[in-house]
This record gives sequence, structure tokens and C-alpha cells, in this order.
Amino acid sequence: MIHNFSAGPAILPKEVLQKASEACIDFNNSGLSLLEVSHRGKNVIAVFDKASTLVKKLLKLNDDYAVIFVQGGASTQFAMVPHNFLGKKAAYLNTGVWASRAVKEAKHYGETSVVASSEDKNFSYIPKGFVIPTDADYFHYTSNNTIYGTQLREVPSTGVPLICDMSSDIFSYEFDASKFDLIYAGVQKNMGPAGATMVIIKKSMLERIQRQMPTMLNYKIHVDGESMYNTPPVFAVYVSMLTLEWLDNFGGVEAIEKRNAAKAKLFYDELDRNSQFKGTVEVVDRSWMNANFIMEDPAKEAQFNELLKQAQISGLAGHRSVGGFRASMYNALGLESVQALVEVMQSFEKSQG
Ligand code: PMP
Repeated sequence: MIHNFSAGPAILPKEVLQKASEACIDFNNSGLSLLEVSHRGKNVIAVFDKASTLVKKLLKLNDDYAVIFVQGGASTQFAMVPHNFLGKKAAYLNTGVWASRAVKEAKHYGETSVVASSEDKNFSYIPKGFVIPTDADYFHYTSNNTIYGTQLREVPSTGVPLICDMSSDIFSYEFDASKFDLIYAGVQKNMGPAGATMVIIKKSMLERIQRQMPTMLNYKIHVDGESMYNTPPVFAVYVSMLTLEWLDNFGGVEAIEKRNAAKAKLFYDELDRNSQFKGTVEVVDRSWMNANFIMEDPAKEAQFNELLKQAQISGLAGHRSVGGFRASMYNALGLESVQALVEVMQSFEKSQG
């Protein structure tokens, strides 16, 4: 068994891959592949309905919210959010590369107030005690910083609409989703393959759209069209629906949170104990999804990599911009994979005498 710690696209439950591969050959006993049928067929519409219904069920959201699937990745959301909602001024928290990219796009549309940034220490912590201007059209933050391995699990209080990029930690812990006005996530971490972006939007936000715009950038078009204004990424949404079903059967977000917390504890306890490795971020801000670490002696990386290979541990290289190692422990990764990694870290330490 290969232990897949990839940061994204990332591990999916085996049973989801099995069902997805079957649908590529024969979708719903129709004799046709899911890849060769119309997105407007009733069986495909049912997939989109089910995916949206499961998103709302898992996050305990009512019908004040719409769930849509669009294309262009979370990166297109960086622009779509200000395009739709930045009238005069928006507030952003800068906690990493992805947050910075969101800021960069917002600047095209109006005043962009960065309320706090952790760039001074290479994004190794989450700024605390920042103040959000009450006249901002919205406040935007990134809940999990995939590249650096920091996470903000506590929902900030704001007096303004709250918007979050949850690409790398959606559905991984319980939080009050009804505090948000818009949440977006590229599905390729905790939900499915690359190709679809999920957007959860409070319907009342749609009344705030003022700017004239290209049709494809308008949230209202996609909500009214129920994700079918144009040809949607059917396969990516189908796999996402299967993963949501898997999570629901697992016991929902509450149950997966318990396992994610246990995985994080197992890993970070070993990181703190082991003399050969050290973490790179503030302990209180450590992410449960992406754990970054480096070796006390970087010259020994090749030796450690060899042990990882022997143990069939894959995807542990740090992001190209930060180096070192990154263990991504998304929802579908079992505790036994983290145990396997911990054992390799322990045997590496022993080998050093
Ligand atoms: N936000 C976060 C938190 C991410 O991790 C990523 C991609 N890894 C992105 C945004 C960009 O997503 P995409 O590649 O889907 O545009």
C-alpha cells in the first residue's frame, strides 16, 4: 500500500476511485460512460443536486445558501470575488502565497486593505488581533495555508460579509458555516480531482452585485443556471459527489475531525520528540492538513528520502518555494499512513546512533 501525502491533487478514498472508474465505463447501468453523455440528462442533473445537497447537509447549511460548481480553479475566485463584491473597499488577511494572489486580484477593482500579514516571517504564523474596517464590502481570508502549513480554524468575528478560501481544509473540521457569506474551494484536495471549484454563497449576497461584467464571472448566472449555464466539469463534480457520500457515511465532518485531530497529534508529537526534525511554523498555528518540517541536518535529506521510499511513502517533498518536507494529511488519509511516517522518522533517528 502506498501512503499518499501529496499536497494536491491529493488522496481520495479507494472506494471513490473504484466507483469513479466504473462510471467511466458504464454510468448508472446506462451502457454509456459518464464522459460521453449530456450534462443535461436527468441522471447527471441528479448528481449535481446530490452534491449540493450533501455539501449543505455536511456543513449544516439551510436554503439561504446556494452551492455551485464552476471552473477556473480557486485562482479564478480570487478575481470573481472582488469583481462581484468589491464596490469601494475590501479587507484581506495575508497569510501566504494564495492569500497574496487574492489580494493582487482585488487591487484591480478598488481599495484593498491588508489588515495584517505574516510575510515578515515567511508566513510561519497567523497574525492575531487584527482589526477589520467596518466600511469594507467584505473580509477575505485563507483558512489553511497549503504551502506553509498554517491554519486558522477559529472563524474571525467581522461586522462585514465574510469570505473564505477553504481550498485545502474544507470538510476537515467542524465550524459554523452559517457565519460565512461565501466560501470557495478548488475540489482537488478534500473532495475530488482537479477541474471543479465549489462555491457556497449566501443567496442574499447576489443582491449586492453591482458591477457590469462578463457573463461567466457573474455568480448570479451560475446560481440561476444551477451550475449548468455552460458545460460544467461533470466528472470532477461526480467524483466530488462520491467523496461527499463517503464522508457522510463516515459519520460526517464531526467524525472526520476526530480522525484528523488524531492524525495531527500523532505526527506533531513525534516531530516535537524526534531530535532529527523540526517544524517551521508557530506551534499554535499548525495546520492539521499540511505539516511542514525540515531536518536538523539538511545534508541527510537523501538518506531520509530513501527510507521514505522503502516504506512506500509518497508526496512528502515540500513546496518548491519553501523546500524541506510537507506531510499533507487530507480527509482520505488514514491514521495508519501517519503511523507509517512516524515509524520512518523514528528509524531514521535510531540510524543516527
Ligand atoms: N488556495 C489555496 C489555499 C490553495 O491551496 C490553492 C492550490 N493549491 C489555490 C488557492 C489555487 O487553486 P487552483 O490551483 O485551483 O487555482
